Amino acid sequence: YCAPCFREAEWAALPYERGARLGAGAFAHVQRCRRDGEEYAMKVAYKRGAAAREKKEGVSRRAATVELTILARLGRHPTLVGLVDRFETSDAFVFILELATGGEVFERICTDGPYAEGAAAAVVRQLALGVRHLQAVGVCHRDIKPENLLHASAAPLAPVKLADFGLATLYGPRQPPMISAVGTPAYSAPELLEPGVEYGGEVDLWSVGVVLFVLLGGYNPFDPFGDAEPNEIRKRVRGCEWTFGAPLWQKVSAAAKDLLCKLLVAEPQRRATAADLLTHEWVSGAAGGGGGGA
Ligand code: ADP
Ligand code: MG
Repeated sequence: YCAPCFREAEWAALPYERGARLGAGAFAHVQRCRRDGEEYAMKVAYKRGAAAREKKEGVSRRAATVELTILARLGRHPTLVGLVDRFETSDAFVFILELATGGEVFERICTDGPYAEGAAAAVVRQLALGVRHLQAVGVCHRDIKPENLLHASAAPLAPVKLADFGLATLYGPRQPPMISAVGTPAYSAPELLEPGVEYGGEVDLWSVGVVLFVLLGGYNPFDPFGDAEPNEIRKRVRGCEWTFGAPLWQKVSAAAKDLLCKLLVAEPQRRATAADLLTHEWVSGAAGGGGGGA
């Protein structure tokens, strides 16, 4: 796998040997790489203009700098894909990240269907620990979704790590207010989609709620068939229009549904916090690596 618009001389100068493709999003593509016998993930985000050849949106220097600042601030944490090294070439920003070999949670749902409750609770517990760390250092991720959640290894109950800080931002009393509606509408909190309204770190907890719904239900509550127009999705989210309508929810435990009802709450102040999640009976039972059955 070779990035076509990356100049070979510049590639050769990098101390990393490139390997197989791992994945791609709207802004970047990611491949395995190796240095001194250690494997990592190499995220290549093309600069504005250069990106057109890859049919991706280009990344501005400012955006790449923000992503780097945030990764540096987060350091190494078991629930996040940490930054190891970085480079810049004439047409791309290159991040060397911890490697997660187990694939996206999104792919696992696509191939194997919904997660068993024990496995889903373990994912939510790790996400809660991750979001708690983010909030402790004043970072809002803003794009938590199954595509950005990676299993550390291929084992069925391998821990998950939050990836992709490309839309993350610093927030808090010494930062400008968060107002812009970035991210993916089907996972975005109602207040984030409300034009001109300032929002806070609670938006990440809403996304955790949608992820939990998708883990257990196998479909998005605001876009059940994956074919809704973005404006229709925004309208449903802003109206907090979601239900346990599909028959499969009859088999889901009351505790899991209770947690969903506490996360998918329109009012950010009344939404469950990361700490609430960690003490919730359905989640605290998942401590110790995610055993437990349905
Ligand atoms: P984008 O901003 O384009 O969405 P991401 O950071 O989400 O870029 O990376 C795109 C995809 O590459 C991810 O969805 C995932 O499949 C894969 N990927 C990203 N980081 C890693 C990593 N550290 N280890 C393994 N795969 C990764
Ligand atoms: Mg992504």
